[in-house]
Amino acid sequence: MEKKGCSFVFLCLALLYVTRPVLLASLKGIDLSKSGLGSSILCDTCIGLVTTVRKLAKLHVSQELIEKAAIEYCEKSGRADERICKLIIPEFKDEVLYVFDHTALSSREICGTVLDDKCGSTYDPFNQQWNVTIPGGKPPIKPYHPPKVNITNRILHISDIHWDPQYTPGLQARCDEPLCCRPPLPKGDPNNSAGAWGDAHCDIPLQTVVNLMEHLNATQDQFEWIYMTGDLPAHNDWSQTRSGQVDIFNKMIDLFNEYLPNKPVFYSFGNHESDPVNSFPPNYITGSNSISWLYDDAADKLKKWLNTTDAYNTFKSGGYYSVDYNGIRIISLQTNYCNKQNWWLLINGTDPDGMLQWFVEKLLDAEKKGMKVHVLGHISPGDGADCSNAWSANYKKIALRFENTIAGQFFGHCHEDRFHFMVDFEPNTPPRPYGQVLDHDTYILNITDANLTNKPKWIHEYSAKFLF
Ligand SMILES: [Zn+2]
Repeated sequence: MEKKGCSFVFLCLALLYVTRPVLLASLKGIDLSKSGLGSSILCDTCIGLVTTVRKLAKLHVSQELIEKAAIEYCEKSGRADERICKLIIPEFKDEVLYVFDHTALSSREICGTVLDDKCGSTYDPFNQQWNVTIPGGKPPIKPYHPPKVNITNRILHISDIHWDPQYTPGLQARCDEPLCCRPPLPKGDPNNSAGAWGDAHCDIPLQTVVNLMEHLNATQDQFEWIYMTGDLPAHNDWSQTRSGQVDIFNKMIDLFNEYLPNKPVFYSFGNHESDPVNSFPPNYITGSNSISWLYDDAADKLKKWLNTTDAYNTFKSGGYYSVDYNGIRIISLQTNYCNKQNWWLLINGTDPDGMLQWFVEKLLDAEKKGMKVHVLGHISPGDGADCSNAWSANYKKIALRFENTIAGQFFGHCHEDRFHFMVDFEPNTPPRPYGQVLDHDTYILNITDANLTNKPKWIHEYSAKFLF
């Protein structure tokens, strides 16, 4: 009886920690729709499971036994492919057990964060209020006047490349796994097979990334520097390794260096750069769980553009930095510190690594020097699904305080061409433009057409100024 309970516990443990597509499809979707479990039953089940896990951990049940039981149950349940069960559970085991052991949250509170409103209004650490210290003395808002002269910088903003090194043309493009077009999937029929240049249901093959780089090389006179806002690896979250993630990072940065050697690249970490996905422990987590394996490599790879000791050091310790380039201060934030799926924040989610307080200091210094600031990040503040309310609220307070200084904010992650409006805290404030981004051009590649003609064409889709 005890063994059976143990197995069940760890299936759900695994499901709680798999990434969004698998998590939503399995925990939220399958449990509720197929089993008919209501919200309160799902919540009670979750609380029971988490409680049992923590008790087992306290009893020093070996991690190997726990892992074996979890895989066994996962396979028998039929809720995930056997192969994925064997891979995903070991991926998340260490992080899950460490966080459960070190968080001060109760099991109910943990489930409240995982299941949102399905556990009623439980304490949710991501919604708690904490405040960074923001200095007063906000300068009066200057009325906006578009510049009369033609002194503009053009910046290439690129995000979420999601290169899949195993993408294989001809394999099934629609499948039962979370990511298709890759082994061990079988060959697809003519209506369901991966094209040479990509497929809308899959991540991107190398030759398409290289084609993009060739195109950028040929058009590089049209932009002066690059903002790369993260997510270089594919979505095969169940079969990634630290060394594999580093290889992908290095390969992608090598491509930028090869095709655009004279274009500075200012980069922000996506949630997919880590292993396991979303796992960005703050810098007080040391030893085998530390993320130095990623930050050390990335800091060296980007050293050329992290051209001050201060920038190099903060990037290496927390994945964020500030550099001054071409008269503009570029501040790249580690937005995985607001990521609700970054489970390390369950231990302590209050301004991880003090980054937002550091952000305030960098902005205040820029204000004093009369400099403009561009902010980069991966997950955008105000993205309610992924970015915590508390972090977002602090970001907004900072951004509004420094609205005369911040001239642009650039994020990725959503895989959509999207603009956000920031609403002032003061009621009845008339809308006003934020910063000085003068226009925005979007370029696209029609993959269907590229696969048919074998000639990829990167085309200008629209100019924001022209369209709006
Ligand atoms: Zn992302």
